[in-house]
Amino acid sequence: MSTDTHRLPIYSVELFPPKTSEGMAKLKREIDRLSAVGPRYFSVTYGAGGTTRERTFETVDWLRSQGIDTAPHLACIGSTRDEVREILARYRDQGMRRLVALRGDMPSGMGSGHGGDFRYANELVTFVRSEFGDAFFIEVAAYPEYHPQSRNPAQDLENFKRKVDAGADGAITQYFYNADAYFGFLESCHKVGIDLPIIPGIMPITNYTQLARFSDACGAEIPRWVRRRLEGYGDDVESIRAFGHEVVASLCRQLIDGGAPGLHFYTMNQSKPVVRLWEELGLPTPG
Ligand code: FAD
Repeated sequence: MSTDTHRLPIYSVELFPPKTSEGMAKLKREIDRLSAVGPRYFSVTYGAGGTTRERTFETVDWLRSQGIDTAPHLACIGSTRDEVREILARYRDQGMRRLVALRGDMPSGMGSGHGGDFRYANELVTFVRSEFGDAFFIEVAAYPEYHPQSRNPAQDLENFKRKVDAGADGAITQYFYNADAYFGFLESCHKVGIDLPIIPGIMPITNYTQLARFSDACGAEIPRWVRRRLEGYGDDVESIRAFGHEVVASLCRQLIDGGAPGLHFYTMNQSKPVVRLWEELGLPTPG
């Protein structure tokens, strides 16, 4: 299924499901502000092992009730085929047409996920295609700086190709701050015959401590000069945000100028940094 590729480029945003009703109320206000700039769709993350199942449903249901095109994430590790089938049937019956299909990482203290029926995301993609045919436009994850658990780049690429061959329609990358990593990854993909749209994931920089923690965990590199500048600002939040905006806007420009098929913003449930980037870059807005 590739009905979406003729409408490239795609500019989309990602949310995570809040833990509390206050968080949900706040998120609805952020969604309003993000909707005003007109992302093509909103994706909603899902905790591996079903840890956010109901909260993901709640967020997805609310977005849909507002008529917003929504792409639920589904992380398969730690889940059974029956559980995954039930979730997919729910989304299909609700008229959902997009899915971000992932392996996920089990939250610490919840075991390795080996009790479930899936080991890797390619198995989830195969399962969705075999049980639901072309009901969903399936996006998978890609790693321009390579997945932290991969043995080497060649194997990681081979494993990425398994997801493509299993029937993925597109990919969204882990975030990165070095455009060369992305373009180099695209080149490697083309060499092995991968030609689906690979949309860069963009993480705005607003909080250095949080960003450093995430980046260590997911294997995204913060270039030394960026790290040193951010560290140098200490608690000066305004300077961190101003510099972070400059760095990310410049990255986005390089990606767009280099022909990236869109941008996917990791919003961290905050509209302001994304709206500012959207406006500065002159991305398409409604009307
Ligand atoms: P896979 O593609 O299965 O890869 C995982 C690792 O296993 C890689 O090292 C790969 O090289 C290797 N591998 C893959 N297939 C095989 C195989 N057949 N044999 C041997 N080795 C293999 N996490 C969540 O929990 N919830 C979310 O909602 C979520 N959303 C995300 C959205 C995006 C756009 C991205 C980039 C990541 C997201 N993640 C999410 C994080 C993601 O789940 C983790 O990065 C996870 O560690 C890997 O998931 P994957 O789908 O890329 O796994």
